[in-house]
Amino acid sequence: MSKSSLLPTPFKFNKDNPAVWVASGAGPYENTRNALAGIDLSPASGRRVLLKPNAGRVAEPGAGITTHPQVVAAAIDVFREAGAEVAVGESPITGVKTLEAFARCGIQEIAEARNCPLVDMDARPSVPVDIPAGEAIQRLKVCPEVLEYDLIVSIPVMKMHMHTGVTLAVKNMKGCLWRRSKVDLHMLPKLPGREDEKSLNIAIADMAIVLLPHLSIIDGTVGMEGLGPSAGQAKALGVVLAGVDPFATDAVACELMGISAQDIPHLCLGAARGCGVIDMERIQVTPEDWRSRAIPFDLPPNNLSLEFPNVTVLDNQSCSACQSSLLLFLKKYGEQLFDAEKGGGKTPIAIGKGHESLPPGTLCIGNCTTRFKEGRPFVPGCPPVVSQILAVYDEYFR
Ligand code: SF4
Repeated sequence: MSKSSLLPTPFKFNKDNPAVWVASGAGPYENTRNALAGIDLSPASGRRVLLKPNAGRVAEPGAGITTHPQVVAAAIDVFREAGAEVAVGESPITGVKTLEAFARCGIQEIAEARNCPLVDMDARPSVPVDIPAGEAIQRLKVCPEVLEYDLIVSIPVMKMHMHTGVTLAVKNMKGCLWRRSKVDLHMLPKLPGREDEKSLNIAIADMAIVLLPHLSIIDGTVGMEGLGPSAGQAKALGVVLAGVDPFATDAVACELMGISAQDIPHLCLGAARGCGVIDMERIQVTPEDWRSRAIPFDLPPNNLSLEFPNVTVLDNQSCSACQSSLLLFLKKYGEQLFDAEKGGGKTPIAIGKGHESLPPGTLCIGNCTTRFKEGRPFVPGCPPVVSQILAVYDEYFR
């Protein structure tokens, strides 16, 4: 039987003019406490609170990929001081083990020091959640904890995202989708009459109807610009934001990154459906001089082939797991390897399940391209890791 969506937030806020706090000038721990100081957290008393950071990849702290452990540490402390029972949970991207990701990013250490439970949200069976009036997707497989805890706090890293523009508090809730079902949102067909829009963006707005976090903390200690969510450049900003309306909090984070939420499709779509406010005229931001903390982030490139001139990336309905592996591979080895093929033209590389045909010699990456493997270099895996791609390259091209 299908369960319902998250309940509305119990934290007081003005729906028409939501407030967002920006804290800077101290370390990540104090900035987080300072940002949260503006919000009355008393409704958390006696409730079970699940903190949902971004620990979806195995990455060192401070790389701009995972939430800074001191931001999570402060959130644990502050919610406990408010009388809540607190745990930290995550369901990472395909191929990543939750507890390994928590260990590498430093969250395990701060949680153990506080005797705070870490939850592998992929460990138990999923719960189906229907999306009333979902436009791209009508049902989600959700990690059970998301519906069992009383309150969910989204704690993303401030990042650019090559497919969704940014990934902040609203999109971070995608890490509440169970195991591989996250990939489903990347595999949706174009919607009739909306061929110019990415179905992924529409699906994230659909998701927000049922998985709106009760409170959001955005970690801008070290964010990521360019090829986010994992292959961009770390960008130190030294800020932490907090707000009850995740759309408003995201909108302020966008401004600090030098962009407008009005240019981010999933935020526009969700706001248009009444999930939150992104109109900066209506958002009350504290302190008054918050814009002085803005540092423009490099945008994600529109075209990967331009970024890597020696290859042609043929991407048709792939998901971000394969994209990340390919990007990391190209960033690490692309110039050096494909430069060696002087005179050989651009090397075609394919990811995704949507191809009808591929040129001879295409480097086929991921199980989605299995049916083209005959006579072509093929890297199995879902997703394959960088070392697997390198091994196939070495065997076939050298
Ligand atoms: S092979 Fe790659 S694109 Fe296909 S489902 Fe797996 S991770 Fe996604």
